[in-house]
Amino acid sequence: MKLALIGFGQAGGKIVDKFLEYEQRTGQDVVRCPIAVNSATVDLQGLERVPEENRVLIGQSRVKGHGVGADNELGAEVAEADLDEIQAAIDRVPVHEVDAFLVVAGLGGGTGSGGAPVLAKHLEHVYEEPVFGLGVLPAADEGGIYTLNAARSFRTFVREVDNLLVFDNDAWRSAGESMAEGYDAINEEIVTRFGVLFGAGEAETGDEVAESVVDSSEIINTLDGGGISTVGYASEPVERSDHDGFLSRLAGGSGGSDCDAVDTTNRITSLVRKAALGRLTLPCDVDGAEKTLLVAGGPPEHLDRKGIERGRKWLEEETGSMEVRGGDYPLPGSDSVAGVVLFSGVHQVPRVKELQKVAIEAQDNIEEIRTESEDNLQSLVHEGAEEIAPLY
Ligand code: GDP
Repeated sequence: MKLALIGFGQAGGKIVDKFLEYEQRTGQDVVRCPIAVNSATVDLQGLERVPEENRVLIGQSRVKGHGVGADNELGAEVAEADLDEIQAAIDRVPVHEVDAFLVVAGLGGGTGSGGAPVLAKHLEHVYEEPVFGLGVLPAADEGGIYTLNAARSFRTFVREVDNLLVFDNDAWRSAGESMAEGYDAINEEIVTRFGVLFGAGEAETGDEVAESVVDSSEIINTLDGGGISTVGYASEPVERSDHDGFLSRLAGGSGGSDCDAVDTTNRITSLVRKAALGRLTLPCDVDGAEKTLLVAGGPPEHLDRKGIERGRKWLEEETGSMEVRGGDYPLPGSDSVAGVVLFSGVHQVPRVKELQKVAIEAQDNIEEIRTESEDNLQSLVHEGAEEIAPLY
């Protein structure tokens, strides 16, 4: 499907940049309008692929290009004030060419955390196309303010978009590696998953598997129930038929056996299981997911309808949902087969429960702090009044 892709804040911009690198490498053509929005000049300058004219600096009059730190309320304010400038960048794209908007942001910081929900609300208001969010949760050890920002932003963002796709940094950091060192690798993981998922709706039709190819309306229908989504992914290298014989003989194979129907079916079903049971972008229990979409991508001769159908049935059992779509994404040049599973409308998510708790506690604390200061004020006034009273 065709996406207007907008990165908000540093993480958002870097992920959009990575998406463009992925497209260059794979020849995929999903992104129609790569835009990066930030309140920090240096972050915009650090991007490599987002065109200069699509880098929008907001909040100049208030923060002078220095960013908003981790103040997401200020992030929301400067976004609101400069919506016209963001809109001007979007106006350069013929919106009838896009199927949906995707607003990407790290939810723990300031600019993206505050600004992404503001932009999503604006887009929902102006356009008929669906607006999806891709929200990145901070790692737990980033500190309280990041968790609190994420908790607040998450609640608003999920309300403003048609669906919030979530990636949890905490589940993806590697041992012994700082988060910053790992971002590049993590961003690669992100764009691989979402690249295959959104690329699926762009497959060339007209070949022999055309009727089982996933199209953009299936992706949109899977997401349009709202709520939050998570994505699973698994892949396996395969030999392409043009060098099947030679390479598989070198590997001790029987030449061409890679495309044996039983192997191909089994490979797809096992990739579906691995994708669903492995590490999801947002770890959760997929039982109860409202809608699910399975995409099998790879060279057409390795995409097997029976395998996809079996995978689909298995996913129906795993999720308990009858709304499980499945199809393929033929990639004639690829040397691997991938299974991507999108679980939409998931409910049993420990990390989200944790964030909700943090948000509620913070709210309670705010009430406590307010009540406390009110009490202090009252008693001061009262004591003062008693002291003062005799004077009158
Ligand atoms: P902003 O510029 O004020 O919106 O804040 P950042 O985007 O720098 O940071 C927000 C959060 O995003 C951080 O707490 C990190 O968890 C996360 N983050 C920052 N950079 C990256 C990145 O390149 N990739 C990923 N996956 N997460 C990032």
